[in-house]
Order: sequence, then C-alpha cells, then structure tokens
Amino acid sequence: MDHAIIQSRQEYIQTMTNYPHLLAPLRIGTTTIPNRMVMGAMHTRLETLDRPLERLAAFYATRARGEIGLILTGGYSPVPEGVMDDGGLYLNAPEQLSDHRFITSRVAEAGGRIVLQILHAGRYARVAECVAPSAVKARINTHVPRALQTDEVWQTIKSFANTAMLAQEAGYHGIEIMGSEGYLINEFTAAITNHRDDEFGGSFEKRIRFPLEIVKAVRACISPDFMLIYRISSIDLMEGGMTAQEIAEFARQVEQAGADMLNTGVGWHESSVPTIAASVPRAAWAAAVRNIKQAVSIPVMASNRINTPEVAEALIAAGDADLVSMARPLLADPDFALKTRQGRADEINTCIACNQACLDHIFTERTATCLVNPVAGREIDFNQAVTNQARRFAVVGGGPAGLAFAINAVQRGHKVELFEAGDELGGQLTMARRVPGKSEFNELLRYFRVSMRRLGITVHLNTRASAEQLINGGFDEIVLATGVTPRTPEIIGVDHPKVLSYVDVLTGQAEVGECVAIIGAGGIGFDVAEFLVGQAEESLDTAAFYRAWGVDMGTEVPGGVIRVAAAHKPVRSVHMFQRKAESPGRNLGKSTGWILKAKLRKAGVVMTPAARYEAIDDQGLHYTVDGQAHVLDVDHIILCAGQQSNRELHEELQARGVKTHLIGGADVAAELDAVRAIDQATALAYSF
Ligand code: NAP
Ligand code: SF4
Repeated sequence: MDHAIIQSRQEYIQTMTNYPHLLAPLRIGTTTIPNRMVMGAMHTRLETLDRPLERLAAFYATRARGEIGLILTGGYSPVPEGVMDDGGLYLNAPEQLSDHRFITSRVAEAGGRIVLQILHAGRYARVAECVAPSAVKARINTHVPRALQTDEVWQTIKSFANTAMLAQEAGYHGIEIMGSEGYLINEFTAAITNHRDDEFGGSFEKRIRFPLEIVKAVRACISPDFMLIYRISSIDLMEGGMTAQEIAEFARQVEQAGADMLNTGVGWHESSVPTIAASVPRAAWAAAVRNIKQAVSIPVMASNRINTPEVAEALIAAGDADLVSMARPLLADPDFALKTRQGRADEINTCIACNQACLDHIFTERTATCLVNPVAGREIDFNQAVTNQARRFAVVGGGPAGLAFAINAVQRGHKVELFEAGDELGGQLTMARRVPGKSEFNELLRYFRVSMRRLGITVHLNTRASAEQLINGGFDEIVLATGVTPRTPEIIGVDHPKVLSYVDVLTGQAEVGECVAIIGAGGIGFDVAEFLVGQAEESLDTAAFYRAWGVDMGTEVPGGVIRVAAAHKPVRSVHMFQRKAESPGRNLGKSTGWILKAKLRKAGVVMTPAARYEAIDDQGLHYTVDGQAHVLDVDHIILCAGQQSNRELHEELQARGVKTHLIGGADVAAELDAVRAIDQATALAYSF
C-alpha cells in the first residue's frame, strides 16, 4: 500500500475519532448531505456592489469547494414589500431565474448543495410599505407597518409557495422558510405582535396557522426530493413571546405539515439579550434546541455561537441537535469543513464573534466581510494564484498587521522573515484577549501561530530590527508593521504615581485601587472599564450569562426571558471621562456597543462627557464640566487616550533613502482596529 493511502487512512481514522458525529452523512428528506456542517443564511449586501452575481457565485462556490455539507443563501423575500431594505432581494417572477441559475450552477460545479432562504421581513423591512400581522411598530424600525387584511395573508402564503417553485426551477436543492428572528412569520406566532381577531390571531392555534399554511402550501407545489427546511424560533427572548412548551408543540405541527428539517433561530433582532456576540458563551442555546429535538423526529439544526468543530461535535454527540448551522464561521474560513475532515482543525481561521466586519458593516450599509478573513465576500478581487515572481520580504512587527501580511505573502509564494521586538507574537491582541468577553481572540492568536509554523516563516523574537540589519539583509521589500504606542495626554501631573496606562492594567503589571478614573472613552476605555468592574466572565459561564441577562429556560416562561432583578456587583468604582460633549460609546460597534454600555450601566460606571482635565495630584483628578470645577478622589487614573504611530524605523529608513511599506497602526493610528490592520496587510500581500 502506498504511503499516501496509509497517510489518508490514518488521517481518516484520526478525524473520525475526533469528530465521528460531525463527519457522518445525514439524510434530509430524500437528500443526503456528506457531513453535518451547514453554512447558515447571511445577509451580505453583495448585491449592492458591481458584478454582484459573480461575487455571490464566487462567495458560495468557494464555500462549496471547502466541503461544507449545505449552503443556505441570504434571505429572498417572496414579495417586494418584505425586503430587508430598499433595493433588497426578492424572488417572485420567472424572469429573475437566470441570475439564480448562474449561482446554483457555480455551486453545483464546485460540488456543493445550495438552498434558497425565503424571508419576509415583516415589520423589520426598512421600507415605507412594510406589513405585519398588526400595526405594531418595531423599536428598531422607523416605519410603522400596515396590518395585513385576511385575504392578503392568504395571498402572502401563496407568495411563499410561488417563490419555492421558482427556487426549484432555478436549480436549488431546497428552500428554507425563515420563521424566526422576529420577521413576519415570527410576528404572527407571538401574541405581542399579533393582535388579530381573524383566523390568524388570538389563540395559540390561530397564531401558528400562518406558518403551518405556508409549509403546507410550499410542500404541495414542490417535488418530494426538494428539501423543505423551516427555521423555527427556538426561544424568542421577548417578554410575551412563545413558551418552550408552545415551541415544542409548534415544532411537532411544522413536521406534520411537511417540513423535512428544522433549523433553529435564537431571539428577535430587537431582543435585549445578546444572542451571537462574543460575550455569549459558545453553544449557549443548546437547551432551546434540545427542546425542539425532543419534540420531533426530523433532523434539527443548532445555530448561534458554534464556531469550532469541537463545539459542533459535542452538540451532536449529546443528542441536542443533528447538525449545526454556522454563518459567520464560514465567512472566517471557507475551508472549515475540509480542514475538519482532514484533521487540520487547528488550522481553521476561527470566527471570534466580534461582528466588526460582518454585522456592523451590514448595519451601517456596507457589505459584509470578515475581520480575520478580509477576502470573504471579495473573492473575485483577490487573485489567489501563486506568484511567479517570488520576492523576499522583511516584516517588522508581529502584531495582527505583520502576521496577516506574512501569512498571506508566503501563501502566495513569497519568502518572509519577521522581526518582533517582544517575546511573543500577537501585538495588541495579546492584551485584547484579557478583556472579559474577548477570550475568542485566543483563537486568532492560535491561527496566526499555527499558520506561521506550518508555512515555515522565520520569526526573530526579542529582536528590535535595526535599519542596518534591514538594509544589509538582502530583502527585496521592507514592510513596517511597528504598531502604536499609547498617547500620553498633556495634563498637569500626568507623571504622578496615581497615573497608569491601559497597558499596565490589562497586562496585570499594576495593582489597581478600588476607585478609578479612566481618561478616554473610546474602544479601549470601555474595555478597561469592563475589565476593572470585574464581573463574572459571562462568555465562559452559561449560568452566569443567563443570570445576567434574565434568560430562563423554564418550559412555561413566555419568550424564555424574565426581568433582571440583580444588578451587577462591581469590584471597583469606575468613572469614565471624555472631552467630547457627545454620549460616550457612540463609536462602539453597532451590534455590540449596546451590550457593553448595558453592562457598564448595570455595574454603576459613571460616564462624564464634555470634561476638561485640569490636573492630577495627590487629591486625585481635577476637572471641569461647563465651567464647574470638580475633584475626584481616586486611587488611580488610567490613560486610554488613543494611540500614536510607532514610526522611528520608518523615518530612519526614509532618511537613508530606503523605500518601505507601512501598514496597520504604524501607518495610521487614529481609529485603528484589527479590521483595518488585517485588511490593509492582506491587500498589500496580494498586491505583489
Ligand atoms: P479611540 O477609540 O480613538 O479613543 C480614544 C479616546 O481618547 C477618546 O475617547 C478620546 O476622547 C480620548 N482622547 C484622544 N486624544 C486625547 C487627548 N489628547 N487627551 C485626552 N483624551 C484624549 O481609541 P482607543 O480607545 O485607543 O481604541 C483604539 C481602536 O480600537 C479604536 O478604533 C477602537 O474603535 C478600537 N477598539 C474598539 C473596541 C470596541 O468596539 N469594543 C474595543 C477596543 C478597541 P476625547 O477626544 O473626547 O477626549
Ligand atoms: Fe466572525 Fe468577526 Fe469575522 Fe464577523 S467579522 S465573521 S464576527 S470574525
């Protein structure tokens, strides 16, 4: 037997031992998928760019080549008024089919299977004509919906069936009916948004009639080998939502109505409980999925905060679910399933649940990509081919920018030597990972470490590269990713012993007193405040997370959520300051800033905007607001006043006439974040 066969057999035995459930095929209706990993539906806004079809097709085909068992598209409305926003996607006429055939054929060529999600956004549609079961406005939409007439409800049911038929004609493998997350169908099933008194409102039976009629209508017009997936709200996380008991009963009826599989959703978009942010523990919603799994005999898919093969395997092995849906993890690494099968799970570029380049982009009308993988959604913009003009690069700085450049350049066939002044790789990430709720950054550090080793990139730790060394090293190009240093603001007494930098605090080099002032309320100021109030690490403790946010898995609790009585008990008294008059935290991520602000509010953190810093002395911090003088008696004052680029080496090399490439914080320090650093580094690596 030749070596390759022996090796692949060993590989097979090893991965089957590690992930026997995740790698087992599964029958859904009459279709068999090769593994239990599914790419969940995601709104990407790729349709708003040039060459949208090519982009979407390349995006999905790349994931199909990565051996994902099944792909769910982003939602297509069955009617124009059900789109997410103006110009949003809908499928209601045969003339639209050629676009879809383009996508389905590319996925089929790549060996994949793709299912079209049908999503009517209901009162979440950001369009003036939005409709709902009742005219109840969502707090996250400016438009008040119009209540559908009874005949219009029947018409809407037919529109789902029409879109399903079109999807079958377009070559999809099935459809998913989006019944969760607070969209139209969910608005019918929950009493809080359904105040109707016709056959679609009132009792539980009448409220669930709309989705059941949709499932029946769709089943009646598609062939038996076309998958019908229903995404059920496994827990509404809305006061007055469905109870777990009702959800189990509803799941049974959806199965009877003709669904081949149930996917699960968690919470509504307007819920005041985080559902997918990094502060949510991995697999936090397993109990809600189990409730459904125990009620039905068709396959049930888990979703939300499942980002590693280990978590996925454990959920299936425990009998909580039959398969897992991962949306963001497939943005982060299109080869997630392939690497899992090949026993290369440690090479997976793991989604760190930051939302910074996916959801936050969508919420601010940009297209989705990924902090850890800027190629996501831009596959056609990056030439993946190996270069035929290999160059030798020196990279100075082992933070996110330097590492991302090194890995991408070597993958494209170049040679890289990396110099890092410190004794470890990771730069600012080594601090970020210490903040509560940011332990997922450890995964990114692991990915960087494993990739550097796998690609055989030479790393010189504890080496402050000199201009001499770089000039004489025979390099073709020099890339400077020398990062940032914290800014020391010009305040009288800023050198007082009470003053600490955020670096002293986050690295544990300083002992911090019980009462502190934080100067600067940007991303790092908020992180430091959370670190210092010292609450339970909710992201690693599901019970603590449930307690903090009022999640109650009791079978009779409407919406699975109760009002939170207990306030967080901070271990310190924390005061935050900024000079701007605006509300602190305005520039935090759209999808996560509210979580951070809610936590700090509960922990009693005092925030003072419009502050003028006068002096620091033994008495504490002297400041004025609106001309009124104040003294805050604090043990420590922590500087989180932004960053400055570290450019000494750049200036020296420039003075000697040597050309360099500046990336990350060394290039622009203002509002630097890992998204920009990794994106800029990746783009530079692909430019050679
Ligand atoms: P930042 O977000 O730009 O905030 C800097 C803060 O320092 C501001 O509050 C600013 O407010 C204050 N400041 C600036 N110059 C000052 C001066 N001379 N004297 C006193 N105060 C001054 O920077 P950062 O907090 O260092 O964060 C760096 C980057 O990482 C940011 O882009 C941030 O978005 C990102 N990040 C984000 C998160 C998150 O979203 N959760 C977490 C960590 C980091 P005033 O000018 O009003 O005083
Ligand atoms: Fe995950 Fe962050 Fe990438 Fe979004 S941007 S897919 S949350 S790593």
